[in-house]
Order: sequence, then C-alpha cells, then structure tokens
Amino acid sequence: MLLFYVKNCNLLKLKKLLPFLFILILFSCEKKKKKEAVIKKVEVKKPKPVVKYGFIFDNYKIINDTIKEGESFGLIMGRYNVPFPKINEIATKIKDTFDVRRIRAGKPYTLLMSKDSIQKPQIFIYKNNKVNATIINFKDSAITSYHYKKPIKLIERKVAGKITSNFSNAIDSLGFNAVLANEIADIYAWTVDFYRLQKDDTFKIIFEEKFINDTVSVGYGKIKAAVFNHRGKDLYAYRYVADSIKKEAAYYDNEAGLLRRQFLKSPIKFKYRISSRYNLKRKIKLYGNKVRPHRGTDFAAAYGTPIMTTASGTVIESARRGGNGNYVKIRHNSTYTTQYLHMKRRKVRVGDYVKQGEVIGWVGMTGNTSGPHVCYRFWKNGKQVDPFRQKLPSAKPMKEALKPHYFKFITPIQRELDSIPVSLQKEEILEINETTERKRNDTTKDKPNKNDSLEKTNKAL
Ligand SMILES: [Zn+2]
Repeated sequence: MLLFYVKNCNLLKLKKLLPFLFILILFSCEKKKKKEAVIKKVEVKKPKPVVKYGFIFDNYKIINDTIKEGESFGLIMGRYNVPFPKINEIATKIKDTFDVRRIRAGKPYTLLMSKDSIQKPQIFIYKNNKVNATIINFKDSAITSYHYKKPIKLIERKVAGKITSNFSNAIDSLGFNAVLANEIADIYAWTVDFYRLQKDDTFKIIFEEKFINDTVSVGYGKIKAAVFNHRGKDLYAYRYVADSIKKEAAYYDNEAGLLRRQFLKSPIKFKYRISSRYNLKRKIKLYGNKVRPHRGTDFAAAYGTPIMTTASGTVIESARRGGNGNYVKIRHNSTYTTQYLHMKRRKVRVGDYVKQGEVIGWVGMTGNTSGPHVCYRFWKNGKQVDPFRQKLPSAKPMKEALKPHYFKFITPIQRELDSIPVSLQKEEILEINETTERKRNDTTKDKPNKNDSLEKTNKAL
C-alpha cells in the first residue's frame, strides 16, 4: 500500500519514494495546524553513494585535515607512508599544473586512501577555497593533477527588511554578508543616501545566491531588482541590459530612468543665463578690485522661476542667513553636496528627501545679490569645486525605442517585488529555472529548501 497525502505542493518527487511499501505522509505547506507527519518504515533504502570531487568516497578511507604551519606536501605524504622517491615523482610529474610548494598553512585537504589493510594514499585534494580545488591523483602509475571546480547552483532569493539603525546592520541581521549591502548601496548610490536612511525605511531585494553542495553559500550573483521605501517614497531599481553592444547591465527605475545618474547641468529647467562662473580669482570693482573668489555658479533667471535639485538627496539645510539669503543645501551621497542660494522662497525642509529634478524653491533676490539668480554651489568631499570641471559618473539614458520592451520586462518583476510582504525576512529558497510550481512565500523564517526536506524525509525513513 502506498499512500500519499500531499497537499498543494510539489515538494516531493514521488518517484524517489516509490520503493517504500508503507508510507503515510501528511504534508501541508500552508496550514501549520495540519503540520503533522506520520512516517512508518518497513524497508530501508540503501543510501546513495557519496560522490565528491568526482570520486566515490565510500570506496576510500578518507582523511580530512588542514595544512599546519611548517607542513609540506612531502611531510604529509611521508606521514602516510608514501616513500620519498614516489613523493618526488609526484612533485616532478605535476609541476606544470601544480607546484606542491604552493600549499599554504590553514588550507583544508582531503586524502583518499585505499580501503584495504595497506591504506595506501591515492588521491590528494587540496582545497583552494570553497569552490576550487586541486586534485592530485597518483592512484595509478599515470600521475595527474588538475583543477576541480564545484558545480555552483544559482538560487533566486527574496528578502525584505526594515531599517532600525543602518542598512548594513539590517542586511547583517538577515544573515547576509556585507557584500550584498555594498552592492545594493552601489546600485542606489545616486538615489538613496545610505548615511541618512531613516528608521522604518524598508527595502525588498530579489537576487541570486550561489550555492555549492546545495547548502553552502559561496557568494551572490546578480541583483535582479530592489525597492527602497525611503521616507515614504518607493524607489525601484531593475537590472536591465539596454546596451546591446557591450551587453552591460544597468539599473533603471519605473520610468526607465537610469539610477546611476549625472547631475543635472543646471538647477533651472528652461530659461536661464550663466551670469557668473566658479572663479577663484574673481575681482570685484565694488570691493576695490580685491580678489573675491566666487565658489558658485550663478544662474540668472526670472524672479519666481522654479529651482530644481540637480540630483536626488536629503535636505540638510533650509534657512535664511546673511548674504546667502534663503538657501537650501542637499546631500546626495557621501561624496557630493549641493547648495542653492538667494531664493525667493524655499519649498523643502531639513530632512526632506528630494528626487532629482524636484522643485526645492524659487528664484529670488534674498541675501547679497543685485538681480534675480540662483547661486549654485557644489561640494565634493567637503570642498567647494566647479561642477563643470568634475569627472562625474557618466550615464547614458535609455533609448526611447527600448522603453516599451523595458516596461514589459519590469511589469512582472514589480508585481513580484510588491508581493513580498515587508514582514518577510528571508524567503524560502527558490531554484532558478525551476520548472515545477513555485512555492508560495510565507513569513516562515529559514524553511528548509526542497532538497533539504527530501533529505530529511529520507533519513527519517
Ligand atoms: Zn554666486
């Protein structure tokens, strides 16, 4: 009798369980109440042979160890009774592919020895890192050495989090490492100031994680999409290849705008005239031709013309003070800050988050000015510089012709992002290219993946 009760989920590959005679699995992936498993066994299936690095480990006696300080390949081999001439022969024969003197203390290794009473060493596996190993095979007279790379499985993951102190702490508390936090920070460098994230800002990320042996994470792949809810605004980012020649991917927002942007060339949209440039040697008649450096660029425009922020950022000053008159200062990221002087009126307050192109005030004549203009000041690493002489990140906008495809491309991804509950911490692991129906996401933390649950079931049986 074979009885399955599998509800609404494709967790188990039925064929793997067919050899069992009496199995009753009560499985529910949706309702915890029903989460009871009654498993009876009658017959034990022989475990699958353990294959690692291309060898059936069951056929050998296995030694797992780490290279200690001062140990050499010869010393280790000698310890397992490999005669010196043989060690010499191995080292000589493989020297073109692997120099045995290159082995380093602290690196793990595995030695495969014959299972008989002689326990003759046959294969030495030197592990460069979690993914790469060098295999020295001296089982037969033909001694070989080659590079072995563990197959990497890409898993698509979803994560959602809330800022309580800062972004890297939030990522860290979810169990991911700083590399992920840095990559996200890089994508949003021109959109979100990570030093000024607010408590209760939230984020959701869809990205790839690389795994070996199904469980060991060895890094991250592509970040497919993300959304930051920053001060109440949803800031989306989608990875998209718009450059068909270089095939380089970039991140764009919901309007197909590039996230990595240049500053706008001017804080005034249409009609303006640059009346005075950044000039450290400016002489002013009024002051007896004394050098009065001008560290800003003056954009003369009609009284009341809207002034835009030239890049997204956070308002760090909004005040009326002395010669500056009404002014606003905006911090864009850890490198750049801009300031806008002599406004008729300010539109933003300290702490406001403003998007590139957003109106922050209107052209006026407050402070030291002889006519309506905005004095635009630009800081790089705390120093006022000429924005027109800066090598700013280059960014090409997406071609109009590509946009319909882009919007079609991001629609399901946005839906996917929006459907991630903010309460979700880590999602269930989803295999990329998985053909079976995807599991529903829920808020359960660290649920075992499909393979894990299969393995556990097998063990239980
Ligand atoms: Zn000025």
